[in-house]
Amino acid sequence: MTNHALRLRLDSRALQNNWRWLQRTAGVPAGAAVKADGYGLGAREATRLLAEAGCRDFFVSTWAEAEALGPLPTSAELVVLHGVGPDDLTAALASAARPVLNTAEQVARWKQEAPGRLCDVMVDTGMNRLGLRTDELAHLDGLDIHTLHSHLACADEDNAMNAVQRDRFAAVAATMTARRYALANSAGICLGSEYSFGLVRPGLALYGGVPRPEAAGHIAQVAFPEAEVVQRRTIRAGETCGYGATWTAAADTEAAIVNIGYADGYLRCFAGKGSASIGGKTLPLIGRVSMDLIALDAGAVPELREGDWVTLDYDLPRAAEASGLSQYELLTGLSERLERRWS
Ligand SMILES: *Cc1c(COP(=O)(O)O)cnc(C)c1O
Repeated sequence: MTNHALRLRLDSRALQNNWRWLQRTAGVPAGAAVKADGYGLGAREATRLLAEAGCRDFFVSTWAEAEALGPLPTSAELVVLHGVGPDDLTAALASAARPVLNTAEQVARWKQEAPGRLCDVMVDTGMNRLGLRTDELAHLDGLDIHTLHSHLACADEDNAMNAVQRDRFAAVAATMTARRYALANSAGICLGSEYSFGLVRPGLALYGGVPRPEAAGHIAQVAFPEAEVVQRRTIRAGETCGYGATWTAAADTEAAIVNIGYADGYLRCFAGKGSASIGGKTLPLIGRVSMDLIALDAGAVPELREGDWVTLDYDLPRAAEASGLSQYELLTGLSERLERRWS
């Protein structure tokens, strides 16, 4: 066994409760986006835990991600968001997952290669990312559509485009036959049940992201990066710490040098803003973030020493505010060096 010196502690109960809150709020079944390896937390375990909580519909981006998930719980259905490109046919035909067809080319390919086989479809209602335009829907004739999707561009903001997209999607849903219709991501769920249709597709909020104020107090932190003290030292008044000598000790300072840095996804934009905690005490980050190390002001914890573990402050809305990174980047950027440990 590798002796990991970095951990990502993951709270199973928080993950499951976040999903329950999202489903209750939506008032319709909630699936789960587990793309990008479950937003960096580990898609296999996230899928298992969410299925245990009652989630049935799982979304990944690619066929490689679908395969990497391994055998799914029997109740689960897997959907591949990027659909079936020219190089995906072999994987798609061998997989139990359904593609989301996004273009007229993908629709033609599926009709040709998998006639009569169920699929999902993405309709673009204004984001101009993936999906058929609303004037291309005639291509869908003859397809057996399981779920018809669209995706909101601005759900995390109060933007007039939200209602426009909802109305366009409702109009499409009224003319297109599918078993089910789905529009809302995590933020979309917070916009109200008019956005729910028959299924919602949360991602971020499952993993502790707070996409809109309505979710604050309901969504709990899931991922807690933990790192180890490599050295404890005293920095004398007037001395500096770290690259660029950007930080100068105003008084003698007890510092803990901890083994996490930008190569682990703890990026330099935390300089002057980040902190860690132990036993309810806060240790502010001092100086710059190195590749594999940071320095913390350990004045509040005189007993802290080499080999002790601290938890980086990583409440997603607060860490996003401090770092300028998005909550999505904070999760998906954490490196493989952090051992994922669910408890
Ligand atoms: C990633 C994704 C989601 C989940 O979005 P969050 O903002 O993370 O909740 C939902 N739908 C589609 C199409 C996506 O690509």
